[in-house]
Amino acid sequence: MSASTIGKEPVTEQPRRGPKPLLAEKGKGNGEITLLWFFIVGPMVALAAAVPVFWGWGLGWDDVVLGAVFYVIAGLGVTAGFHRYFTHGAYKAKRWLELTMAVVACLSLEMSPIGWVAEHRRHHQFSDEEDDPHSPWRFGTTKRALTKGFVDSHMGWLFKKERTNPERFAPDLLKDPAMVWLDKHYGYIAASSFLLPTLIGVCGPGAGKVPLPPSSGRDWCACRSCTM
Ligand SMILES: [Zn+2]
Repeated sequence: MSASTIGKEPVTEQPRRGPKPLLAEKGKGNGEITLLWFFIVGPMVALAAAVPVFWGWGLGWDDVVLGAVFYVIAGLGVTAGFHRYFTHGAYKAKRWLELTMAVVACLSLEMSPIGWVAEHRRHHQFSDEEDDPHSPWRFGTTKRALTKGFVDSHMGWLFKKERTNPERFAPDLLKDPAMVWLDKHYGYIAASSFLLPTLIGVCGPGAGKVPLPPSSGRDWCACRSCTM
């Protein structure tokens, strides 16, 4: 022991007091935000343009059915999986069902299970307060402010760079290797939400026609799920 340390207590790191920060240190990058715009807004615009042009020869009822099926699958993943099961633990599910719900909910493009659950638990903890990411009241009470709040609370939150801290709000999911894997590979699943219906449209019963691009139904899911 050197002279300088004689009589000194060893320095130990003090545990941090108080709750962990609300937001994760690393928010969404520009690339991620751009991809979100491309995969969420792009298909909506394409659909609006495609229906009047292709209906009857390029688009038909089989495309509508394909879109509806993906809509129901992704929607159930979000409402029964992300929301009721993962966020609130409202019921018990076997592991295969848990994983299936987690994967199909990713098709809605509303973030990975870890991200969604953290965001939604924060919403409940600070309901309609300043730190609630889904509050329609955050811009004020005028008509204009409420309209902005409505859009922001239902869809706008998805395009923001801030990311709710999963270490504070979803530590249980961070301990599940499957959820961590989904979080890491979320981009591939997001891409498949676009490619899968397209592939079925091209190779399936309606082969030869132009497939309905936004068949996954994620656009509609994104509009309605966060306040369920
Ligand atoms: Zn809830």
